[in-house]
Amino acid sequence: MPRRHRSAREREGPPAPPERPKGVAPEWASVDGAKVGASSGERGKSYRCPGCNQEVRPGTPHLVVMDHGDVELRRHWHTPCWRRELKRRGFPV
Ligand SMILES: [Zn+2]
Repeated sequence: MPRRHRSAREREGPPAPPERPKGVAPEWASVDGAKVGASSGERGKSYRCPGCNQEVRPGTPHLVVMDHGDVELRRHWHTPCWRRELKRRGFPV
């Protein structure tokens, strides 16, 4: 006889994960006009952060920002640099 057990999880949706899932930027980072994802830096590539013009070193968790949602405009930002950039653009972060 099949057991039909409905857990609270099923009714209320999945519980909040203890850590943010991979690729999801913190809430403050996503703003109108920019699509923001997170990168763990695990791919081992280094990038140039447009905020400070310094290298985003391999293995550094950082943000991947697509201004206007345009993949051609995708840039890798240090997390604090993006926060500063949002302040500069007038967002309340
Ligand atoms: Zn930077």
